[in-house]
Amino acid sequence: MNSRRDFLKKAIAGSAGLMAQEAFSKVPDSAAQLANQPQLPPTKEDLFDCIVIGGGMSGISAAKDLAFPAFEKRHKVVVLEASNRIGGRIFTVNDNRFGGPIEMGGTFLHVEPETFPIGNDIKDYGIKIKKIPRIFSGLLYYDGWEDDLKKEYQMLFQWKWTEMLTFARDIDSFEGPDMSAREWLNRKNYAPLGRGMVDLYFTGHPPGTLDQLSMKGFRADKYSEVELGWNEYQFVNGYNQFLNKMTQGRERHSGRKLDIRFGQVVEKIKYSLGGVEVTTTDGNVYKAKTAIITASVGVIKSGAITFDPPLPLEKMDALSCLEMGDEAKMVLKFKKRFWPKNTAFLNRVDSKHEMCRTFAAPFPDDDEKNVVMSCLFAGEEADKIKDMSDIEIIKALCRDFDKMFPHAAPVYNLLEVKNDEPTYMRYQWSQNPFTRGADSYLKLGTEKSVPIEKARRKLSLPQTTPGLFWGGEATATGEGIHPGCTHGAHFSGARVAAEVSQHLRLKFPQK
Ligand SMILES: Cc1cc2nc3c(=O)[nH]c(=O)nc-3n(C[C@H](O)[C@H](O)[C@H](O)COP(=O)(O)OP(=O)(O)OC[C@H]3O[C@@H](n4cnc5c(N)ncnc54)[C@H](O)[C@@H]3O)c2cc1C
Repeated sequence: MNSRRDFLKKAIAGSAGLMAQEAFSKVPDSAAQLANQPQLPPTKEDLFDCIVIGGGMSGISAAKDLAFPAFEKRHKVVVLEASNRIGGRIFTVNDNRFGGPIEMGGTFLHVEPETFPIGNDIKDYGIKIKKIPRIFSGLLYYDGWEDDLKKEYQMLFQWKWTEMLTFARDIDSFEGPDMSAREWLNRKNYAPLGRGMVDLYFTGHPPGTLDQLSMKGFRADKYSEVELGWNEYQFVNGYNQFLNKMTQGRERHSGRKLDIRFGQVVEKIKYSLGGVEVTTTDGNVYKAKTAIITASVGVIKSGAITFDPPLPLEKMDALSCLEMGDEAKMVLKFKKRFWPKNTAFLNRVDSKHEMCRTFAAPFPDDDEKNVVMSCLFAGEEADKIKDMSDIEIIKALCRDFDKMFPHAAPVYNLLEVKNDEPTYMRYQWSQNPFTRGADSYLKLGTEKSVPIEKARRKLSLPQTTPGLFWGGEATATGEGIHPGCTHGAHFSGARVAAEVSQHLRLKFPQK
């Protein structure tokens, strides 16, 4: 049987334009959540109400709403997932080496759970989440930090955070002809520290570079609501536990499970008001009254899936505004903690960094035992490390830590080493052929017939593709809804399930 890594390597090798460079170093095979159901090919009698393409947050959220509705009749749903696990860009690795779940993809819930539908599901499925106050768990490293209020770094962070909110308000009030984030930043003439902070806000986590990000798009995506909340929430037993729970029916659907077919790489979708036909690379043909596509815009734009009839101009123009940005993670285990106690987040806005600016410690309360640091490379940073070997990256990260924490230098000597090798994991999302990047963003200068700020909405609408409905993080839009996030992806699933349910009621009424 192929291991997960072999499987992904083969998929990568077969994907034109992707590099053969190892992108999943030291992510153990046990990370694969292999299908626990028989992988039956569809039979002639199988006519599904809905085929959900993709078993990430959006697909699972949509499928469970259709298959396990609160009041309505159950719908016959099948989820077709290209890889051999659910989760997509959520990828929890349970690896004994690290002493707890490690998130290689989506990590935090950035919003207050009770204000979003995801909060209801977290509660209903009995999932444990932990609140992490951003201010009291965050560190901001900047030029001169060593000399400034050395002992009161958390107070300093609080002050900087408040300042950041002011910058964010500046961005949110942006009006006028579109421009790049860089041009906007140049016009502002912020002092170096302010500039560093705003740069971090634009590119430290959200994908896209300063030159690529459209100001109109960035404002429309409402990043300030996501990135500058007071709290973050962490899934105590890993994000994947939540997804796994959502594949199971509750209450009147108790004992039922979603029908998920793994290793089903969709390559063709034939759609019409009368029904859809979905073909996979291994020749299986699935038939249904409707289909939902939740694959990333990276996958859709790559042409890996063909549409019959071809997508209408409005969809193509909406897609042209959207681009996939890359992110990568390097997770390191140390013998001894060298950062301040109870640190959950660490950001750099100084001029000296070599590698990346965004760090998270997965076990802030347990940081004597599980001394782990997760380093996030976004946009250009992710691009920079693509061709670097694991050890080159680790060494450079340790040099960066030396600058921040001179008392601990050389930090390289603090790495936990087993069998002559440091304990680490690395993941590069652009090299996963089924995501082709980390998140979507709105790119400057790509607007055609669809205004850039309306692109996500236009992509989400099913009217121009009868029978084919649109989910996924990139389609999360509307008042208080955010793309590029797990809660946005979850919301998009709930929204598209409601659309499908209504369509089925109207077009295929029960006799
Ligand atoms: C490193 C990283 C860190 C992040 N951190 C956070 C965070 O802290 N908080 C947050 O809110 N968000 C975060 N995100 C973003 C968040 O993880 C994503 O926005 C969200 O998980 C996207 O879910 P989705 O269902 O829309 O797409 P996906 O997760 O991409 O799901 C789509 C699914 O479709 C499958 N698929 C693709 N092509 C095919 C095909 N041809 N046939 C069949 N199946 C196919 C894929 O395998 C995948 O499982 C992060 C993302 C990354 C990569």
